[in-house]
Amino acid sequence: MQLYDTRSRSIREFRPLAPPNVTMYCCGPTVYDVTHIGHMRKYIMDDILKRALRAEGYLVKHVMNITDVGHLSDDADLGEDKLEKGARKHGKSVWDVAAEYTAFFHETMRKVGVEPPDIEPKATDHIEGMVALIRDLEAHGYTYETAQAVYFDTRKFAAYGALSGQKLEDKQVAVRDDVHADPDKRRPQDFALWFKRVGRFANHTMHWDSPWGDGFPGWHIECSAMSMAYLGPEIDIHTGGIDHIPVHHENEIAQSEAATGKQFVQFWVHHNFLMVDGRKMSKSLGNVYTYLDLEARGINPLAVRYLFLQSHYRQEMNFTWEAAAAAQTAFERLRGLETALRASEPLPVTTDAALKTKTTFRAAIADDLNTAKALAVLWEALGNAAIPAGEKRTLLAEFDAVFGFGLAQLPAWERKPLTDLPPDVTKLLKQRADARSRKDWAAADALREELASRGYTVEDAGGTTLVYSKEL
Ligand code: AMP
Ligand code: ZN
Repeated sequence: MQLYDTRSRSIREFRPLAPPNVTMYCCGPTVYDVTHIGHMRKYIMDDILKRALRAEGYLVKHVMNITDVGHLSDDADLGEDKLEKGARKHGKSVWDVAAEYTAFFHETMRKVGVEPPDIEPKATDHIEGMVALIRDLEAHGYTYETAQAVYFDTRKFAAYGALSGQKLEDKQVAVRDDVHADPDKRRPQDFALWFKRVGRFANHTMHWDSPWGDGFPGWHIECSAMSMAYLGPEIDIHTGGIDHIPVHHENEIAQSEAATGKQFVQFWVHHNFLMVDGRKMSKSLGNVYTYLDLEARGINPLAVRYLFLQSHYRQEMNFTWEAAAAAQTAFERLRGLETALRASEPLPVTTDAALKTKTTFRAAIADDLNTAKALAVLWEALGNAAIPAGEKRTLLAEFDAVFGFGLAQLPAWERKPLTDLPPDVTKLLKQRADARSRKDWAAADALREELASRGYTVEDAGGTTLVYSKEL
């Protein structure tokens, strides 16, 4: 499989360190508020990567953490802890907020067909490991302590900045305008490993004893400690959103490699953002949508999974309700076809047409996860008269093992075309059929719109026109 690696800025042949095993660490959610459709895109793409690797015959060990302490509102050391902020906003304890939004995250993942990771460690359960790692860094001279925190001294780590390719001077200029909360921090890019419960954090609710006094860990050390604890010092794949490249992942590399002297990650996989109507999703713009908003508008969250697979994970993607509705229609059709295929016994794939489809599908996925191409291959296969129904059923099951719609587990899709139509509707359909035979597509489209406004959807398939009620 060819996979893009952010650190080497190239697409490379993926080979795990110890085949057939693959170790994969995915930065997980900070559980202080709802999981929105932007998060969905990221975790769906992690899920696709895992399924694709499995389809290639690898045994994937997948770890995704839950961040429930230490992630400040600015990725660097500024602002306040997101959990504390969430607790204030929702009028609850930090622990309740963490439990509630972890559950919301799980429910969202279930709705969009994301398999749970093999291990899902919580940061607050791994404080000891983090303290041990900081002590180790301290013993090797990579840290310094101030009245407020223990910092990683980036001067001591020559490769700092290699992941993002940002020159240190650029970073310094970018950060210089900020007000540094700690006057003793030596360089802006140095980052906190441990925050002491003093000053702005004097009332921090979550805190633990440590060799540097009462306090709490920084966000970055959490991921280094948890990935090391479950996957060892060298892992095959590490994923996250592109926002993690310049600070969070740069810092993870510095900590992990300084501590172990080994290359922390072979492949850095970063997902691009989901925008809404061309703008970044944010509470203030009122465009933060969750699976509940999708369902309220009659959109199956799995249809949004379908929508996301239509674009490449490294491209920015724009979400619109029109696109979601179109994905819903396509997903319904797919479900309908899968249901129809249940009438045929699955057959081993032997015909040339089916074998070719299988190869093309595999090549698309192996091409840095070209899911849009793979979806197109799926539709081609379903419409290909040279492939017997039983083989189509087998192919669909194989493809779905990667797409993760769980089609075979879904209830049969009952979507029957209407047969008893009122006369005015029949008349409009006749007019539309005439327009189509004249190739007057504008008139045919106008009539389709007219029918839609009366609550009917029309689908042209196999030489006939089927009419459905819009309320499904
Ligand atoms: P957070 O809970 O803020 O730590 O984010 C969890 C993950 O979701 C991170 O990897 C983010 O990069 C990713 N993420 C957040 N917002 C979006 C978005 N709008 N589109 C895609 N990924 C996102
Ligand atoms: Zn992380």
